[in-house]
Amino acid sequence: MKLYFYYGVMGSSKTANALMKKFNFEEHGRKVALIKPSVDNRYGEKLVKSRIGLQCEALIAYKDTSIIELISKEDNIDTIIVDEAQFLTTKQVDELRELVNDGIMVMCYGLKTDYMGKLFEGSKRLIEVCDTIREIQSMCSECGRKAIINARYNGENIVYNGNQIDIGGNDKYKALCYQCWSKGNK
Ligand SMILES: [Zn+2]
Repeated sequence: MKLYFYYGVMGSSKTANALMKKFNFEEHGRKVALIKPSVDNRYGEKLVKSRIGLQCEALIAYKDTSIIELISKEDNIDTIIVDEAQFLTTKQVDELRELVNDGIMVMCYGLKTDYMGKLFEGSKRLIEVCDTIREIQSMCSECGRKAIINARYNGENIVYNGNQIDIGGNDKYKALCYQCWSKGNK
C-alpha cells in the first residue's frame, strides 16, 4: 500500500478528483473513509463539495483528532481519502503513514503552498513521507502559464503578508504563475 499526495492550486479540481476516486473505489467494493480537516468549513462542516456539483459527507479531523482513532470507529476501512490535506497536522500525517504500513491505502488531496508561497504544515509532512507525489496542473488566470501560487487579493491588490489561514475573510484568491504573482511585490 502507498501514501499518495496529489497537490494543486485552488480551482485545479482536487476535490472533484478526490470524490470521483471515492465513488470509483466504492463501485469496486472498497470501504472508503473520506476525511476532511476541520479548519475549512466553507460549505458546512461535514460536507465536501466540488465546484462541478459532486458532494459527499466526510469524517471531520480536528487539530487534536487522532486519525487512527477516527478510523477505528468505522467498519473495515481499507482506503482513506483526505480532502484539504494541507490542513492536517504533522502528527496526523504520521498517523496516516502508520495506517499505510498497516495495509490501508491513503490518498491525500490538497494545496502545496499558501498565498505567500510557503508550505502548509500538512503538505510539508506529506512531501517528506509520501510514497508518490503528483501535481494536478492548472493554468494561471492571468497569462495561461502553469499556476503555482494561490494569490490572495484585497480588492485589486495582491496580499503578500498576514495569517496563513483566513477563515471567513472577504479576501479573494486566484491561481497565478510565479511571474504574475511577483509583479505586485515590489
Ligand atoms: Zn501568469
